[in-house]
Amino acid sequence: MGVKVLLPTALRQYANGQDTIELAGAKVGEVIDQLIATYPELKGHLLDDDGAIRNFVNVYLNEDNIRGDDIVNAPCKDGDEIMLVPAVAGGAVLDAASEGKAGESPYLNMVTEAIELSKDEIARYSRHLILPEVGMEGQKKLKAASILLVGAGGLGSPLGLYLAAAGIGRLGIVDFDVVDESNLQRQVIHGTKDVGKLKVDSAKATINDINPHVEVDVYNTGLTSENAMEIIAQYDMVIDGTDNFPTRYLVNDACVLLGKPNVYGSIFRFEGQASVFWAEKGPCYRCLYPEPPPPGMVPSCAEGGVIGILPGIVGLLQANEGVKLILGQGKPLIGRLLLFNALDMKFRELKLKKDPKCPICGENPTVTELIDYNEFCGIPTAGETEASEEIGLDEITPVEVKARMDRGEDFVLIDVREQHEWEICNIQGATLIPLSEFEARIDELDSDSDIVVHCKLGGRSAKAQDILFANGYSKVKNLVGGITRWADDVDPSMPKY
Ligand code: ZN
Repeated sequence: MGVKVLLPTALRQYANGQDTIELAGAKVGEVIDQLIATYPELKGHLLDDDGAIRNFVNVYLNEDNIRGDDIVNAPCKDGDEIMLVPAVAGGAVLDAASEGKAGESPYLNMVTEAIELSKDEIARYSRHLILPEVGMEGQKKLKAASILLVGAGGLGSPLGLYLAAAGIGRLGIVDFDVVDESNLQRQVIHGTKDVGKLKVDSAKATINDINPHVEVDVYNTGLTSENAMEIIAQYDMVIDGTDNFPTRYLVNDACVLLGKPNVYGSIFRFEGQASVFWAEKGPCYRCLYPEPPPPGMVPSCAEGGVIGILPGIVGLLQANEGVKLILGQGKPLIGRLLLFNALDMKFRELKLKKDPKCPICGENPTVTELIDYNEFCGIPTAGETEASEEIGLDEITPVEVKARMDRGEDFVLIDVREQHEWEICNIQGATLIPLSEFEARIDELDSDSDIVVHCKLGGRSAKAQDILFANGYSKVKNLVGGITRWADDVDPSMPKY
């Protein structure tokens, strides 16, 4: 028996799909070195150019988070478990002064004197009213409370449904998106009839139907550095249902600056995470991840997929945490990160510590106002994307590829998606070489050929292109926007996913 290294879903693809690997070593650094020696593909995901653990990867030894210089030298022994927890966009991760400051209430302080429940409401909430932990006073607290839901998608759907049913007095919903057919597999606040409608309007209509006593404010916009403070200030707490890093950091920072609790949840494939970030009582998101991973390092749910039931489970864990903060009951997830694996049906809890060096909630904060979060996360802004629509030298549009095909030009089209995606749709004449097998199969490609690579959206094929360039292939172009844009611009009959 050795030291067990537990790998999250996102990293397993680089380790032959294994979730647990037993290695020997007396220090965590030695075990990680061995892990990388066994699975060299993990190196770039775990270590930076200087060989240090990347700061968006949290390392846990048993239940304790270790960080900085302590990681390599932390002693470990047979039977210990080392868990690597990278940030994931559909969700993220972990570490803090256990359960908040001693003696301080970990709850919101709701004022209920002016709140009355009508006869209808008393009938509606009777199962709450007979529950000692809620009762009349608790139900009034719920009615007095206001919660901002950021996102009306996978997590926002169960949140909206159950918080409305529970009788939260006022719900705000921020979302700029329109209901798409591909949302319906998990975004259950929207129905088939809502496809094409604004998500905020569809969500509001459903909530009004479930519970007309709930006031619903809708914000048909993205949450931005310009509007976040003003919107969030109007609510008692935020529940974060976002699926991208810029918004996640924005929500965190605005909540820290405004002193609001931020109920966090994230999902990826079959794994979920939940916590309560509240800088006044415990750690914030940046205590765990001071900086985001570089773009493209972590796949999004749009690229990686997600089992539709998972956001239901995680969203309801968040709803439950939100309600506890309002009722003043139970033990909130402050300073605790809950990890959930739907395939193994396992919950695991990790301690989170407040980081005294946290850039926003630490002792000497360097972030004192909201910043440009797209820039922070290395994502080009809309303007820059427009400009790059000029199409780079190493890129090609779907329309141009189709024109080349129609002209009978000689080139090789390589699809680097996975087999299960190929089965959903593929471009006639393309050859499938999944990115996961790309380096091993590179010899199948002739370096004299003109090569076009594509994936779903263009991210993975850009990686394949880099691999080809690194191996001496020079005539390689990346299909801009991937097969999704092909479906939009060239073949509208092709299914999109
Ligand atoms: Zn912090």
